[in-house]
Amino acid sequence: MKVGIDLGTTYSAVARYDKQSNKPIMLSNSFGKEITPSVICFLDDGDILVGEDAKDMQSNGTGVNAAAFKRNMGDGSTVVSFNGKDYTAEDLSAMLLKHLISDAEAACGEKIDEAVITVPAYFEDAQRIATKRAGESCGIKVPKIINEPTAAAISYGYKHSADKTLLVYDLGGGTFDVTIVRITKGNIEVIGTHGNHILGGKDWDAAIVKYVCDKFYNEFDVDPRDDLPTKNELIVAAEGYKKTLSIAESVTIPVNYEGCSEKYTLTREEFESMTEHLMNATKDVMDELIKDLGMEWTDIDEILLVGGSTRMPGVAKFLRDFTGREVVTHSDTDLAVAKGAAITAELYSSSATGMRAAMTVTDVTAHSLGALSVSQDGTKYVNEIMIKKNSKVPSTERRKFSIKPGNMTDKIEVYTLQGESRVPLDCNVLAKVVITGFYNDGKGLIVDIEYNYDENGIVNIKAFQGEDALQVKSEPVPEDIRWMGGNPRDRPNEDKIAKNIAICVDLSRSMQGEPIEAAKDSIRRFVHTLEDEKTKFSLIGFGDKVKVVTELTGDTGVVINSIEDLKVNMLGRGTDMSPLETARSVVSSSPGVGIIVVLTDGIWGKRDRAVDQAARCRDGGIAIIAIGLGEADTSFLRQIATVDDGALFTTIDKLGDTFGTIATAITSGNMGLAVR
Ligand code: AMP
Repeated sequence: MKVGIDLGTTYSAVARYDKQSNKPIMLSNSFGKEITPSVICFLDDGDILVGEDAKDMQSNGTGVNAAAFKRNMGDGSTVVSFNGKDYTAEDLSAMLLKHLISDAEAACGEKIDEAVITVPAYFEDAQRIATKRAGESCGIKVPKIINEPTAAAISYGYKHSADKTLLVYDLGGGTFDVTIVRITKGNIEVIGTHGNHILGGKDWDAAIVKYVCDKFYNEFDVDPRDDLPTKNELIVAAEGYKKTLSIAESVTIPVNYEGCSEKYTLTREEFESMTEHLMNATKDVMDELIKDLGMEWTDIDEILLVGGSTRMPGVAKFLRDFTGREVVTHSDTDLAVAKGAAITAELYSSSATGMRAAMTVTDVTAHSLGALSVSQDGTKYVNEIMIKKNSKVPSTERRKFSIKPGNMTDKIEVYTLQGESRVPLDCNVLAKVVITGFYNDGKGLIVDIEYNYDENGIVNIKAFQGEDALQVKSEPVPEDIRWMGGNPRDRPNEDKIAKNIAICVDLSRSMQGEPIEAAKDSIRRFVHTLEDEKTKFSLIGFGDKVKVVTELTGDTGVVINSIEDLKVNMLGRGTDMSPLETARSVVSSSPGVGIIVVLTDGIWGKRDRAVDQAARCRDGGIAIIAIGLGEADTSFLRQIATVDDGALFTTIDKLGDTFGTIATAITSGNMGLAVR
């Protein structure tokens, strides 16, 4: 049998679809009640109580209690430790679900093998996955996770056949959600959802506490809020007074503190007026959603009230006054979500072909999905949104990821973010995946990365090279992600790639004087900019001959000293090899990426040989960047440069800037570099 389960923060409920009456019906618990407290109690004798029994124990103050654990769903934290065992919200939810299922099976005398479970619309990936897993750990299938407001709209829309656009106004204890739904001939299409997840009934309770404490302070010059236990008692009591004001025109509130006592009368009118700012905050959320969807208030036919806090009469009044729309409530608000889930369960069951034809449900994403990317100027990380909030689910988006020629990397790291901000640390870092298995010959390639929100709002990532699916492996998101708020160039990276940089300097006579001095100065700064524990440098001088002035070394002190000693015509008995050949063998002598920077002011002899050597470097993934000064041969330098824009022509004055540009390109990885 298939059921729908409303797995609530304070109460849960189970319903099934009755094919005889064509209606969802509630499955009561063993106490004959349609809703079950979402409470678990661990007793000293090792027994574990769930639901009504646990709630009783909670009020007696016996045992260790776990309540409202839904708030920690998916965060992996320990909610309760008992008898040496730690329980997460997912574990506790699994225990609660098992209890709900067993009671429901007893109520209908059938075995339950499938359940649609509801979650708040704002639940993110991890919370949805944890909810699904909690259900599956009870040995049942969970074909669908559905948003609570959508379930409420389904249970409402199912009964109302007229076409309409409904705004589901869901004000709970600590959260507020708005969902706009289009109902056409029984089909339910969610158009958009938005929320404020720190706004809820608790804020109305706090307004009552403020009202009486301010009055008390004015009268007695002492503030009950200064004492935490007194304040907490008042907060708990305020919820009761608030509920009284939902049925009575006024309530009397006694306050006793530091030997002073007083009674205050709060009328519903005063209560509504002092909480108007909270109603306005809900209005802002609705206005934002309507605007985001390009709609007008006149497009909304009805407002459906959902959530305990909509029992305050002021809510419907406020909404009618400012929207002029009809405001409706579900006949059984507490059960609407479970019933909507039961209808959905039937919809998703393969045997319900008749019903499937009669009704479809489409939902949207409550959060945007993006990938961690580097900003255009290379100075910061950004959240590049792939699938926008309020896109229909399932939703899929493919993006091309290019690897530049010369880059021989065999893996791509992708961080997935959920949230609306362009600032990564303002979003939730959902996952890290590593893509491998692509063919890389160093000539540049494109990998297609596919982001998918499935119909449960759960995120999946796939990657392809052409038609071939690549391996996508999940890795834990590192605990310390502060680097996402910094400059990509400063990112601490355990797998920072080793770099071997050969600097080939033209030491022929024409460099005498200013050019060689400018070169020495620029190279010194270049080395300082790039120095790190994984970078090695070599200095190669060339003219008539070629000579390795400094062997490849990570000791920048040695390199800097050699730079000071650079002189025109110092090569003496160098070799007759091409500078590029010498440099290629130097940068290949140690593992890492090879980079050759050539500085020249003249025209080379044996140019064909140099071009040939450059081709070999390119094939081996070695980057050549050529800097031309003065008389340098532009077309030749373009031929030997192996990376995009790798031939740069400059003047003595600008030589320092040119080396700076190259250093930036190397550190930001904006250059095809090969790893061996
Ligand atoms: P929910 O999360 O939908 O169960 O809503 C819980 C919130 O509804 C809490 O803040 C309750 O104080 C509030 N609530 C429940 N019943 C009433 C009522 N009759 N009048 C006002 N608020 C209520």
